[in-house]
Amino acid sequence: MESIREIFPFHGGVHPPEMKELSNRTPIVNGPLPKRLVIPLQQSIGNPAKAVVSVGDLVLKGQAIAVDDGNVSVAVHAPTSGKIVAIDAQQVAHPSGLAEWCITIESDGRDEWIARERFDWKAALERGDAKSIRDYLQDMGVVGLGGAVFPSHLKLAGREALETLIINGAECEPYITCDDRLMRERAIEIVAGISIVRKLLNAKEVLIGVEDNKPEAVAALREALSNCGFAAEVVVVPTLYPSGGAKQLIKLLTNKEVPSGVRSTDMGVQCFNIATVYTIYAALELAEPVISRVVTLTGGVRKPGNVEALIGTPIDDLLEFAGLDTKPNCIYGGPMMGFTLPSTKVGLTKAGNCIIAMDAEQFPEKPREMPCIRCGECAVACPQELQPMDLYWFSRAKNFGKAQEWNLFDCIECGACAYVCPSSIQLVDYYRFAKSEIWEAERAKKSADLARERHEFKQFREEREKEEKAARLAAKAAPKPAATATAASAEEQAAADDKAAKIKAAMARAAAKKAEEGGAAPPASPNAEAKIPNFVSPEKAAKIKESMEKRAAEKAALDALTPEERAAREAERAAKIEAAKAAAAAKKAAAADTEGERASAGNAASDVAADTPAVEKPAIDPDKAAKIRAAMAAAAAKKAGTAVKEGGAAVETSAAPAEPAVTEPAVEAEKPAIDPEKAAKIRAAMAAAAAKKAAKEGGSPVASAQEPAEAAVVEATAEAEKPAIDPEKAAKIRAAMAAAAAKKSAKEGGAPVASAEAPVAPAVAESAAEAAKPAIDPEKAAKIREAMAAAAAKKAAKKAAEDEGKA
Ligand code: SF4
Ligand code: SF4
Repeated sequence: MESIREIFPFHGGVHPPEMKELSNRTPIVNGPLPKRLVIPLQQSIGNPAKAVVSVGDLVLKGQAIAVDDGNVSVAVHAPTSGKIVAIDAQQVAHPSGLAEWCITIESDGRDEWIARERFDWKAALERGDAKSIRDYLQDMGVVGLGGAVFPSHLKLAGREALETLIINGAECEPYITCDDRLMRERAIEIVAGISIVRKLLNAKEVLIGVEDNKPEAVAALREALSNCGFAAEVVVVPTLYPSGGAKQLIKLLTNKEVPSGVRSTDMGVQCFNIATVYTIYAALELAEPVISRVVTLTGGVRKPGNVEALIGTPIDDLLEFAGLDTKPNCIYGGPMMGFTLPSTKVGLTKAGNCIIAMDAEQFPEKPREMPCIRCGECAVACPQELQPMDLYWFSRAKNFGKAQEWNLFDCIECGACAYVCPSSIQLVDYYRFAKSEIWEAERAKKSADLARERHEFKQFREEREKEEKAARLAAKAAPKPAATATAASAEEQAAADDKAAKIKAAMARAAAKKAEEGGAAPPASPNAEAKIPNFVSPEKAAKIKESMEKRAAEKAALDALTPEERAAREAERAAKIEAAKAAAAAKKAAAADTEGERASAGNAASDVAADTPAVEKPAIDPDKAAKIRAAMAAAAAKKAGTAVKEGGAAVETSAAPAEPAVTEPAVEAEKPAIDPEKAAKIRAAMAAAAAKKAAKEGGSPVASAQEPAEAAVVEATAEAEKPAIDPEKAAKIRAAMAAAAAKKSAKEGGAPVASAEAPVAPAVAESAAEAAKPAIDPEKAAKIREAMAAAAAKKAAKKAAEDEGKA
């Protein structure tokens, strides 16, 4: 019956050479049984399946070797019986050529099926349990076989009623004929599958779209539909690439245009591929998981055709099956949307509908890319009504944001634009590159967002735990209500009493047992009654006994108390402890205040203390400081008196150190006081020495000797602790210096008096100046001056004698 349904053409489209007659003239044949099969676990955009077998396991055909990992994932089954020989990353049929996890099975050659049990999907459907059917299909590994490999159970979910179910038999790509042959040869099974899907989706209308270059397929389907018992229509559409695209076929059959970002199901239309419908039928009616598919072997092969090949069959085996010994480059899929295989050793996947062996005749080398001439041919051909040349420029310039703005993701990568481009620009390659970069950036952003969320949650959790801990501690520290405390203590007491009673009973039993066991009883001890050791003296034993009796009486009194009385007593005891603690704390605080005040007073009196933080200083005992101050004042007074007796400025000199000594810290104050008597003795000794020397030498040196004596008294007071200088040593120094001066005078000659006297005055002046310096020993300076004066006198006497002689 001819279709009278109106067709609604879509925008664009191209007419590439069909090349279908190469492979559509022979029936489907079973493919080879390979020695090894490599089955990838990643099938669609969802998670890869999780392996449930181990290396070395023996498996049967149809046995699950991997289960789904999430909703957008389906199970994987052993395509034949054999042994698992590897679970590892291997290169797969993907344009990237990257490795993915695969299970490798070594075939045992028997191709033995696992026991299959049919799932009663009709009963499940009758009781309204469509979910169990979808779950079953997920477990059977059913995915879309049109190319995207999207899990079918997801497309069957979420609808109470569907307006239009479209079955896609357009198969518009050149070379590919697997669906054509399937429709011709298995139309009844396909219609049975359509019936199941129709019921699951509760579809009102079923339309099967087939291109007009497949008249045999159209006829076979119409024949099968004539006895199916439900309304369905085969709609023949004009041959135009890409009428097999879901959006294009929906437009052709329903005139509905699915806008960007909208799912067709939201518009009441769902689309299934012919081959997918067949696998749904095989799973539900034959209990066969998806372990094989029909694949077109075409291009430069000797025996082109369609083969029912096991998933995982190496492409090399298929090419060999098609009559090729040497393995050329192959296109996986159609020439418009497919890609060149990275290797012919990879295994067949569920998406593999066609393998085209490329020969030079059919696939001449592509011409070199030329610059875009903005001819606009690509925009005319684009079925998605995009601007391919603009997308090309944005993708090439890596302006991905702009490419997205211009609906890059609406591109179905059909290749129509590249097909018509006079500059031979491989436009789809640029779009794929841009899409992968955007996806990668999106993945990175998602990972960063996830990491940030985790971090924020961790912070939140830590804060919450802190608050909970604080609340717990507060609750623990809070006083319990009296009633609760009483009840708790009563319970505790009851438990303690019970325990004591049990211990007592156990001890009694042990004693009785011991008595029963016989044995001589130990001699009675005089202290046995009170359990006091025998070696303790009677007096001490009596005291111990008295103490024990006292404690026993206390315990008995305590035992006699009621729980309430006991609680009151405990509360009273606790109150006493708290009061004692408070008193101790108050005492400590008062002591700290006193220390603080004393430290403040000390700071006010001392500049040194003011510069140093009071808290870091050791506390000075006020009593001790007062004593030190008194002792030092007395010593100063005594010293001042002595100085007054001796007259002169000594009063002022001796009084001066008394002031700082009073205000200095205790460490300084503990220095031994200077003995005035000792100072007086030193002064007397020095005066006598000076007088003796003056008498011996005569003349003015007396005055010179008196000056250092005065200075020595003052300095000796300050330097009382220094060891006295050896007089003999001083005499020797003096003699040496005098001899040196005499020698120098004799050598120089002339004006000896002036030159001899001159050093005396500066020497005295210098000595006075040096005396002010704290580092030079004043006593030594005085002795130097004394020696120099003696030398000068001696020199003067000698010169006078010489003058007398000359005269
Ligand atoms: S068809 Fe090619 S040359 Fe023409 S506008 Fe498109 S990209 Fe440019
Ligand atoms: S590949 Fe994309 S841009 Fe090119 S014609 Fe197809 S849908 Fe349009």
